[in-house]
Amino acid sequence: MSLAHLVPAAVALVLSAAPAMAQEAPRWSFAIHGGAGVIERESLTAEQDAAYRAALKQALDAGSAVLASGGAALDAVQAAIQVMEDDPLFNAGRGAVFTAAGRNELDAAVMNGTDLTAGAVAGLTTTRHPIAAARAVMERSPHVMLIGQGADSFAASVGLEQVDPSFFFTERRWQGLERALRQQNLPIPERPAGAPGPQAANDLPAPPLNERKFGTVGAVALDAQGRLAAGTSTGGMTAKRWGRVGDVPVIGAGTYASNRDGCAVSATGDGEYYIRASVARDICSRIHAGASGQIAGQAEVDDALSLGGSGGVIVMDLQGQPAFAMTTSGMYRGAVSSSEPARVAIYGDEVLRP
Ligand code: ASP
Repeated sequence: MSLAHLVPAAVALVLSAAPAMAQEAPRWSFAIHGGAGVIERESLTAEQDAAYRAALKQALDAGSAVLASGGAALDAVQAAIQVMEDDPLFNAGRGAVFTAAGRNELDAAVMNGTDLTAGAVAGLTTTRHPIAAARAVMERSPHVMLIGQGADSFAASVGLEQVDPSFFFTERRWQGLERALRQQNLPIPERPAGAPGPQAANDLPAPPLNERKFGTVGAVALDAQGRLAAGTSTGGMTAKRWGRVGDVPVIGAGTYASNRDGCAVSATGDGEYYIRASVARDICSRIHAGASGQIAGQAEVDDALSLGGSGGVIVMDLQGQPAFAMTTSGMYRGAVSSSEPARVAIYGDEVLRP
């Protein structure tokens, strides 16, 4: 069922970060998301709400530390995403959802807007930071996308930290898998080797998110030298099968950056639709043609997701104006720039606030 029209245009405008009022464009600007979905005030306890806001701020701090010291957009994107990959709240790195076979298979992509170089990985099982692997593919291999064991071997060969697959395990996501498999009448696999026993880990409160998906993380940045970059990282969809790969590592679907178009995009939602509609690339084309990030982002998710599914995008333009568009009731998100402090929001009708 399409949820594309649940967010009316008036709300979409409110979602935009407050435009800089007659002040100069920021020297650098940074925005992140931690997934979109059915996220309503009554579905989060005060502690869960606070935990997500704190986690988003930590990721924003990692990105702004890079950008405020004159660092590169790509480094800020990678730094913030690594923080979220390590945080079990998000469906990326540690805390990723499980496949139907009971594995964590991780996807990520990064793109450099200045020269349109890009790197992507899919189906990683041992690389701690998939976003670092994607970046290594971009900078240290002749390829754009690597998958599976080969991708993990490549990551190891360039010195990226390898972990036992059980590192990514969380009880919350395992229980989400069991529920999803029962609903689909599919067999429940054995718990992964090395995972704690069923009663041992009460690692997180009950998931406030739709368990099948969402919690993907992403970042978009404009640095003080005017360079744009985007990155996204995910465990994909709960109970995914047959080596399923979503939009995240598909350049132009879930991730895209182009200084030529003046745009960096990271998406989250039902990946199949983002692939079919080339969402991230299309947003950049709309911006190239003169649309604002907010209008381009909202028009594109409304169009693309009218095919089915739901989700959101974050967009950065060359003026350092971040935009957040979604068809869902919420998206974990945040922004910070050289002229504004770190601000975060969760619910769809909420403006960013410190
Ligand atoms: N887009 C991701 C995928 O389809 C999932 C998500 O964003 O939650 O793999």
